[in-house]
Amino acid sequence: MTIRVYNTMTRSKEEFVPREAGKVAMYVCGPTVYNHIHIGNARTFLSFDVIRRYLMWRGFQVTFVQNITDVDDKIIKRATEERRTPAEIAETYTLAFRSAMDELGVLPPTRQPFATQTIPAMIDMVKRLIERGHAYVADGDVYFSVRSFPGYGALSGRNIDELESGARIDVDERKQDPLDFALWKSAKPGEPHWPSPWGEGRPGWHLECSVMSEGELGLPLDIHGGGSDLVFPHHENERAQSEAATGTMFARYWLHGGMLQINAEKMSKSLGNFLFLKDVLARYPAPVIRLLMLQTHYRSPLDFSDARLEEARAALERIENLVRNLRWVGEREPEGSGVPRPALERLSSAIEGTRAKFIEEMDDDFNTAAALASVFELARTANSFVSEHQGDIGGVERAVLHSAEELVTDLLGALGVDIAPETASSYPPDVVQVAAELAGYQGSDPQEAVRALLAARDAARSERNWAAADAVRDGLEMLGFTVEDTPQGVRVIYR
Ligand code: AMP
Ligand code: ZN
Repeated sequence: MTIRVYNTMTRSKEEFVPREAGKVAMYVCGPTVYNHIHIGNARTFLSFDVIRRYLMWRGFQVTFVQNITDVDDKIIKRATEERRTPAEIAETYTLAFRSAMDELGVLPPTRQPFATQTIPAMIDMVKRLIERGHAYVADGDVYFSVRSFPGYGALSGRNIDELESGARIDVDERKQDPLDFALWKSAKPGEPHWPSPWGEGRPGWHLECSVMSEGELGLPLDIHGGGSDLVFPHHENERAQSEAATGTMFARYWLHGGMLQINAEKMSKSLGNFLFLKDVLARYPAPVIRLLMLQTHYRSPLDFSDARLEEARAALERIENLVRNLRWVGEREPEGSGVPRPALERLSSAIEGTRAKFIEEMDDDFNTAAALASVFELARTANSFVSEHQGDIGGVERAVLHSAEELVTDLLGALGVDIAPETASSYPPDVVQVAAELAGYQGSDPQEAVRALLAARDAARSERNWAAADAVRDGLEMLGFTVEDTPQGVRVIYR
């Protein structure tokens, strides 16, 4: 089975064939570090995190490169306002970006180059472009000559003559053509600058991605990604520069994510309708935000609201409960004599079917919404099986339920949604002490301590010593455990 991806370049879904079998070279434009990122930026980064994770889950070795734009007009402006240096501003927001991504559960890039550390290679590319007749020097600036590159406009589907007539009249006189864009800008007083053959200056924004992606990954890139607002002019310009400079295809597949919107309007810093990711993370755990995002296809617009966050929170809680329930059944000693074969076979085939369906949906241009729905469906089916066949669950059923739980956890994990595990390491160490007092437990393993407490409670109940039984239950509850007596036995949930 093959993966199909929607390629902006051809405006169609294509079979994904990387340049080298089994390996994927992926580049996603990074942030300009002049402020915290907003939840719209986070959507794009999260979408590509999921694409990367899924490719890894499918067995590809993915090299993921993302730049940090640490020199830019916006950084300089912010530095002036705050009486700090641009380097300080960039450092502050690079660290903030990394920690917010980390908290959101976005895997760190394989490599994360900084624009300011790639200046010599950028100068080299500008030189190559001048030599090949694709760029010209004007008064300390260097411009890319758009009309010198025949394919200009192909990525964004724009016609160069229409672009020309749409270009503003009050253009910079140093440009030979209003469509031309800066590769190198001469430095104004007080701005960061580097020496170059054309005088002191700094690189244009588009140039850095062309240079860093080629430097880190070589061409053609397998996947070049970003939000759909980057298609024009940023990606159109990256492609023009890179292909004009190298004569090689720049990217095999161009993937673009849809915009996150608020009240049907794109979230952006300039419109002022933004929410910082860090502030949303302070109110909602990362898996809730991730689940909300994954419920919409990455290319579609996504309406963001508190109501949707609440819905995602409830959905996550439901799936966590279903998984915990299965985990609990899967870990119990089986007692029942078995469930009729057809019912068990139905469950087994639902498990097989879910895996296949998940892959089919994700292979179809990463349809996370449909893939999630199939995983949730399996969790519900397996739980209904448990409640329908209470008391009959034996060893075989237990193993099948265990595999359902493992599959649900694995598939959600492929999308970066981690279901909070109820493992020994997440139990509070205090439980050992409480178990020593109430159950005479001598060891140091929190999970065993919980078992000892439950055994003590069982013993007390069978002796009808309700006071002792309640003392154990109260002790557990004080530690954050809920003790439930169910038809299948005692169940403890740690919250
Ligand atoms: P910027 O720092 O503006 O270059 O944006 C960083 C990334 O966030 C780019 O890939 C943009 O396409 C993306 N982005 C910006 N605004 C939004 C939005 N409202 N929704 C989704 N992605 C966005
Ligand atoms: Zn870029």
